[in-house]
Amino acid sequence: LPQIIFALVLIGFSIFALVFAYRSYLTQMRLNLLRSDFISNITHELKIPVATAKTALEAILNFGISDDKEKTKSYLKMVALEMNRLDKLTTRVLEHSRLETRQHLLHKEVTNLNDFIDRIRNSVQMIYPDSVKINYENPSEIITLPIDQVYIEGVIRNLIDNSIKYGGKGVNIKAKLWQNENQVFISIEDNGPGIAKEYIDKVFDQFFRVPIGNQHNVKGFGLGLSFAALVMQQHNGKISVENLKEKGCRFTLKFTRS
Ligand code: ADP
Repeated sequence: LPQIIFALVLIGFSIFALVFAYRSYLTQMRLNLLRSDFISNITHELKIPVATAKTALEAILNFGISDDKEKTKSYLKMVALEMNRLDKLTTRVLEHSRLETRQHLLHKEVTNLNDFIDRIRNSVQMIYPDSVKINYENPSEIITLPIDQVYIEGVIRNLIDNSIKYGGKGVNIKAKLWQNENQVFISIEDNGPGIAKEYIDKVFDQFFRVPIGNQHNVKGFGLGLSFAALVMQQHNGKISVENLKEKGCRFTLKFTRS
């Protein structure tokens, strides 16, 4: 009998070890896949501005257009634009990895969200006084929450910017703030094109952009929403999106009070 018990324990232990090893292997594989996806995406994103700037510089150097001042100027402008894009991209990627590895400690302050959102709305409205309408449903009760104001303002601005980018001129945006017992919600919705069903689950992935012709005319890195998801994670919260019945989509930030 002791031998049988010993054998059974040994078999049980081996099965446990095998399952554990297999699970670690799967996790490692998944991590590797994510990493190689990230590297190929970032390489692709870096290649475009570098290649464009290189072509423009070569044109100036090789094809003798440096005598043509106007042309040289327009090529140099192109280089400057691409370098600007590169600069923005590297800043965003750095911010991403800092937040992911939690190197950047968020600086949270108890904030009156009613006024906070109103201020953001007013400053965006000032930039687009005619072409964009932002309606803010500000509740009469004051809602406060500890947030990193810089990061959460970035998230809200990114949502509003997206509504403007994808909704185009004349877009109507609605911002809403409300709470229940232990959760606070902020939503931003627009009457733009909305997001195709097959892609709606992907918009929070790094570098994901909906592959639709006319939306590709709109510049972007596909990093804004994945960054928003990270920021929300660090606030004990979540970001979600749904298409609206008629037209457009609604992004909702949900904070759970701790
Ligand atoms: P970017 O705008 O730089 O492409 P984001 O991460 O902010 O990156 O958004 C990811 C994608 O989600 C966008 O490329 C766009 O296709 C889609 N999207 C985001 N916001 C909206 C919106 N308000 N309406 C329609 N599509 C949107």
